[in-house]
Amino acid sequence: MNISRNDSVVQDAILVIHGGAGTILEENLTPEREALCHAGLRAALERGYELWKGGADALTIVEQTVRVLEDDPIFNAGRGAVLNDQGIAELDASIMRGIDRMAGAITGVTTIKNPISLARVVLEKTPFVFLSGLGAEELAATLDEIEQVGQEYFFTQERWNQLQAQRKTNSVSLSEDNKFGTVGAVARCKENHLAAATSTGGMTNKRHGRIGDSPVIGAGTWAEDATCAISATGHGEFFIRAAVAHEISARMRHARESLGVAANAVIHGELEAGTGGVIALAASGEAALPFNTAGMYRGVIAADGTIATAIYGRR
Ligand code: ASP
Repeated sequence: MNISRNDSVVQDAILVIHGGAGTILEENLTPEREALCHAGLRAALERGYELWKGGADALTIVEQTVRVLEDDPIFNAGRGAVLNDQGIAELDASIMRGIDRMAGAITGVTTIKNPISLARVVLEKTPFVFLSGLGAEELAATLDEIEQVGQEYFFTQERWNQLQAQRKTNSVSLSEDNKFGTVGAVARCKENHLAAATSTGGMTNKRHGRIGDSPVIGAGTWAEDATCAISATGHGEFFIRAAVAHEISARMRHARESLGVAANAVIHGELEAGTGGVIALAASGEAALPFNTAGMYRGVIAADGTIATAIYGRR
């Protein structure tokens, strides 16, 4: 499986993940850091694959895979979330199931260890799709399965240093030199139903209360068995305006484009000045991983257990 290009399309995938897109340049990443990223991606893929082999449903595969990435401080979600303009980790997540297009999302939570699992609770245990801030946290407090933590859990020296750097230039970014990003997973189960999940801390030094694309169904996340499952990463405002995840699905449904054609057309065309990428998976096992930035942390596992992970991309 070759996923080295920034427009790669592969077949027979069962699980595709990303750990964020951005200005990820080989000269800025030490070999140790690279190894940590590959290892983090691999650990998540292996967890998802184990579940797939055991016959888990697609929603469980994406939720559990994203939890592995949320717990890894190297990625901008859960433990490693970037900090907002008040120095606080403010988290967003969403999850969607392809068989019935049921969805759950949360935004602006500051005490949830694994936001993706709370998004799943919204999907499965409430009549709602999208909960924010206090309401989401209060729901979490009533549930044993959702762990709440203090802000110190999310504090890493690296994220603090990145915030100070952004404050100096008064800018907002995916992270310091746009390196480490959002996480996401798209999967199909043995019955070929799809699901997608995305989780993030958003952008370093974002205004508190700002909501990016990651928790917005149709922008950062989409799943529909007849077309595709999508998880996005990048400059959220552009992804919301282009309704990126839904747009890829719509091109497949209405224009009968293949997944690879639709995903590449949106990321390398429709998105215009927006930077980022998506992971995309169809029920057939076709997967696409397009991005228009220097790199995107990404990985795929095929039905036979073959794993590919990559960071940079060539055209
Ligand atoms: N899309 C996320 C946001 O705008 C950031 C990222 O993907 O790294 O909040």
